This record gives sequence, structure tokens and C-alpha cells, in this order.
Amino acid sequence: MIDYLIVGQGLAGSCLAMQLISAGKKVLVLDTPAQNRSSLIAAGLFNPITGKAMSRTWMAPEIFNWLHEFYPKAEQLLNKKFFYRVPVYRPFLSVQEQNEWMAQSADVHYRDFIETIYTGATYGHQVHDHFGGMVIKQSGYVDVPAFLEAARYWLQQQAAFEVDAFNEAALQIDERKIEYGPWQAAAIVFCTGTAIRNSTLWRGLPVLPLKGETLTIKLTSQPEQIYNRGVYIVPSGPLSYKVGATYEAHNLTEEITEAARMELEQRTRELLRLPFEIVAQEWGVRPTSPDRRPMLGRHPEWKNVLIFNGLGTKGVSLAPYFATQMAQWLVGGPEIISQVNIKRFKALYSKP
Ligand SMILES: Cc1cc2nc3c(=O)[nH]c(=O)nc-3n(C[C@H](O)[C@H](O)[C@H](O)COP(=O)(O)OP(=O)(O)OC[C@H]3O[C@@H](n4cnc5c(N)ncnc54)[C@H](O)[C@@H]3O)c2cc1C
Repeated sequence: MIDYLIVGQGLAGSCLAMQLISAGKKVLVLDTPAQNRSSLIAAGLFNPITGKAMSRTWMAPEIFNWLHEFYPKAEQLLNKKFFYRVPVYRPFLSVQEQNEWMAQSADVHYRDFIETIYTGATYGHQVHDHFGGMVIKQSGYVDVPAFLEAARYWLQQQAAFEVDAFNEAALQIDERKIEYGPWQAAAIVFCTGTAIRNSTLWRGLPVLPLKGETLTIKLTSQPEQIYNRGVYIVPSGPLSYKVGATYEAHNLTEEITEAARMELEQRTRELLRLPFEIVAQEWGVRPTSPDRRPMLGRHPEWKNVLIFNGLGTKGVSLAPYFATQMAQWLVGGPEIISQVNIKRFKALYSKP
């Protein structure tokens, strides 16, 4: 009998499996990797200052400290390079914005995350930065496909991974264990991203799909930073870069669209001075939550049915921290913090 059957090997399932195994638990992860339409599409950016309003992301000190520990350790464990620390450069659009950030950069809230404020064009040979810009630190990107592939290989080496299209109808749950096909486990953890919306057990849990599209562009010279204004431009191969992303909550067609290509191309032109060639376009669907916080916890009826979901637009930075919190809680550590605990949605998902 195993301790945890984890369904899903995206960022959530991979980070959780690694943390539970390092806590001495016996784990089996099930997935159909080809179906992954979120983690494998992600540009992999982590950036502590984000959004149109450019604010420090929620819990940034804790979350960013931990990701800078977690991924290098994971690289050693998995024997693969996938974590890249790279500053993000965000050009200003006006003198007013420049002045605001000059003042904010000294603020205790921001100073650990801002490297430099430039008041004049600094990367003007590569981007439009007439009003200067700011260099954000503690940022970079994870090559997510490389991370997931290495994690899967590592799990396979210890007989902890199986390709399986998990069918919830075949799951048997009782007070002491769960049974699924040939496997028995003390508990099951759903890390299935937006596919959780097909689950009967978790009916009513508000995991909301948010479609995103990216372009892959080729450049003839290498950007000196990750540029981010309107779009981000993140390395994805030799002189190859991911440009993203769009945010579409309503039109969830399972395909790339002309509208997204035009939007991303236009925004890239507004940012980049370098010539570029579009070589690919991809789509994926992020699992988001109404309050933009992850969703962790226990099923209201079955104590051995658990969930780790809702990583939204920031899975790369959130997954390590909250996988660790969840693993610690499962081995007897402190309760999951209320902001991410699925108890906050109980009225919705425990309805008959
Ligand atoms: C276009 C785009 C760009 C993005 N860019 C970034 C970025 O730059 N930085 C960032 O931090 N985040 C980014 N994200 C968000 C990030 O991808 C998500 O937060 C994260 O991938 C969610 O991970 P997850 O493990 O919860 O879900 P998923 O990655 O969806 O993983 C779920 C897994 O469960 C498996 N699964 C589901 N159902 C079953 C079943 N029945 N049987 C077996 N397996 C099953 C799936 O195959 C999949 O592997 C982006 C997302 C998109 C769409």
C-alpha cells in the first residue's frame, strides 16, 4: 500500500510529489502527459512585481525566497538545468511613472525586488524605453517542460509514476484507504488543473478556466534582460523566445486564434525594437480561482481525498511554496493557511 496517489503531474503534482517523497512518503503519480495544456505551455516566468498596476505579488517575500531555494535543489536532485535567474526590465511610459517608481523603490515593501531605476533610455537599442525603466530582481524563468520531464524520469526511476488516464468512476473510497485499479493508497490528491471541473467529487469547487495563448519568436540578437511591458519575452531556446500571454475567460475554444496572434504581435512591436519572426503559436488553459489564491485542502466528506489546485497565472512561483506547505501539513505540520484553504469555498462545493 502506498501513502499518496497523486493524479496529475503538472507543476502542482510534481512539486507535491517531490516534497512528499523527501518527507519519506511512498507516492505514486498518475498522468497522461500529452494532455497537459497548462504547465507545458507556460513561459515559466517568475516575477515579483506584476500586473497592469505593477504591484508586489501576494506573499512575495516568502514565496520568492522559497522558490530560489527550491528550484536549485530540484536541479541537483533531478540532475537537470531548468532554473534561470534573469532580471526583468520594464520600460516606463511616462515621466510620471518614472517619478512614482523612483519614490516606491526606496519603500521597504519594494526595495528587495527592485535593482535599479533608470531615468533615460538604457536598453534603447533593443526596446522602446525613452523614459527609462526599472530592473526587477529575484525574477527569471523555469524551463517548465524540462523540469516536468526530469521530474517524471526521477519518479519513474523509483516506480512512482504511471501513465494512466485516471477515471474517477473507478475510484473506491472508504474510511481507511482508497482503491484505484491495482493500487491502494492511504489517500488521493487531485492535482489535475482545469480537468477538476469534470470531477463529481469536487463538483462546485470554483476552479475557473482562463485560456492563454503565446507566440514563439526568433530574434537575430539576444535580449539583455527579460523585457516585460504589455507582453513578456522569455527565452525558450537558442535565439527563440516565448511571448505572452493573452487572458481569455469566455472564449475557451481549444485552438490558437488569429485575434490572439494579432494582439501579441502588436504588443511585441510596441515593446521591441529588434526585428522578430513568429515561428509558433500555442494555447493552454490556466486553473484559476475567484480570489486568485491557490486551493489546497481536504474533501468535506472524505478525509483521505485531497486537492492542490488553483495556481492560476503564477504556477511557477506558487507551486514550490504551497506544495511544501501541503506536504508539511500532511505529515503533521501546521494547518494550511486560511487564504489558500479550500474551506473558504465549502458552501459552494459541499452542496448535494
Ligand atoms: C499560455 C500560458 C502561459 C503561462 N505562463 C506562465 C508563466 O510564465 N509563469 C507562471 O508562473 N505560470 C504561467 N502559466 C500558468 C501555469 O501554467 C499554471 O499555473 C500551472 O501550470 C498550473 O499547474 P497545475 O499542475 O495545477 O495544472 P496542469 O499543468 O494543468 O497539470 C494538471 C495535470 O493533470 C493531468 N490530468 C488531468 N486530468 C487527468 C486524468 N483524468 N488522468 C491523468 N492525468 C490527468 C494533466 O495531464 C496535467 O498534466 C501559464 C499558463 C498558460 C496557459
